[in-house]
Amino acid sequence: MPQAVAHVLFAIILLDLIRDYALKDRKKLPLHFIFIGGVAGLLPDADIPVYWLLKNVLGLQVEWFHRTLTHSILLPVTTLIITLVLLQLTKKKNFQLFFAVITFGFATHILLDGILTDYIPLFYPFSQAQYGLNLLRNLGWPSLVEGIDAIILLVWLWDLDRRHQLRDYM
Ligand SMILES: [Zn+2]
Repeated sequence: MPQAVAHVLFAIILLDLIRDYALKDRKKLPLHFIFIGGVAGLLPDADIPVYWLLKNVLGLQVEWFHRTLTHSILLPVTTLIITLVLLQLTKKKNFQLFFAVITFGFATHILLDGILTDYIPLFYPFSQAQYGLNLLRNLGWPSLVEGIDAIILLVWLWDLDRRHQLRDYM
């Protein structure tokens, strides 16, 4: 699992880049939706504190269920379907954007986990098969997981500075 901060940053940075390079209009994707996308980027790992609460606070005997339903493609596909239905049913852009950025956040989380570390049950609960590249371990850089958030942040800051001359505000 990449660090929690890496998941939030990765989703936020990609949404920011989409806003600046693809949409080319900051009003089409307001800042609070980028924040919501960042939170959604972390949300699939909420199964860890839920497990801890069930086991240690409620005293339930539960099996370790991290990286099961919350790391299945079922999660972003469900929110994508909700987004598409909302596109048909309502003209309210806020509802559509809300579910679109949540879909994006879920997808980036699964992508990051699947590409960088370990394997994920992509089609859970229909299949237990694990998929992924486990790139950091296969390349022999397992310790890079600890610094991935710093690398993502530095690249983003470099790009922000390039686009918006951040140095002028310091
Ligand atoms: Zn995860």
